[in-house]
Amino acid sequence: MRPAAPHRLLLSSLCLALCCLGGARGSRRSDNHEWKKLIMVHHWPVTVCKEVENDCRDPPDYWTIHGLWPDKAEECNGSWHFHLEEIKDLMPEMKMYWPDVIHPLNHSHFWKHEWEKHGTCAAQLDALNSQKKYFGGSLDLYRDLNLNSMLQKLGIKPSINYYQVSDIKDALASIYGVIPKIQCLPPQQGEEVQTIGQIELCFTKELRLRNCTEPGEPGGPGGPAPRGPRTGVSGGTGLEVCEDGPAFYPPPPGALP
Ligand code: 5GP
Repeated sequence: MRPAAPHRLLLSSLCLALCCLGGARGSRRSDNHEWKKLIMVHHWPVTVCKEVENDCRDPPDYWTIHGLWPDKAEECNGSWHFHLEEIKDLMPEMKMYWPDVIHPLNHSHFWKHEWEKHGTCAAQLDALNSQKKYFGGSLDLYRDLNLNSMLQKLGIKPSINYYQVSDIKDALASIYGVIPKIQCLPPQQGEEVQTIGQIELCFTKELRLRNCTEPGEPGGPGGPAPRGPRTGVSGGTGLEVCEDGPAFYPPPPGALP
């Protein structure tokens, strides 16, 4: 027997509700916050300033931390809010090595952003499962990597002469024993070459160094050309995995005669 009209209406509403529920579950499933590697992202403050075209008075003349990012997961716990109080012991080091380059008078918005977007996902690891551990652990990794000294040692310094991206990549790989990822600002109007902006070194969940890219991956050895912007500072044109070829490693303003 066919259901009477009001029942049919009820049935179709039920179906619609179930479909919606299924859809919502489906989208949550795809947003499953699973990740495999941690990326220690160093940025070159001079390039950050160039990208946002703000004045950025006296950006640091050393590589600073942009963040410690799990790949493939963001904003894993919207109710785990940032509390500056929890990292007050780390303050001197945070200001020195993890400054907000764009807003140097107020760092905490940047730290809040990094915690909420990336830290809440990294916190799946016991070693990083509090704000103190996430920021403190990131500072430890940054110190251990000692990128600024390594670049110095390799003779890679900001210069008006261009570098070959592959030379920098190979030099870093020889020091760290893993493949890093280097990101650049594409040439802007009137510029000949891309500008180096970020250097990423990757870690396993056990916090051991691992390759950032594997052979065949975009940006990896023998892989296809990298596609599209990966990170974009508002008002800027965005960083991309550097193209093989020449790149500018810009000296801080005032460093040149
Ligand atoms: P993510 O949002 O994944 O941490 O990184 C990309 C964003 O970081 C960019 O769009 C930009 O807004 C932000 N960013 C990069 N460097 C800085 C910085 O020094 N200060 C601030 N406030 N934001 C930054």
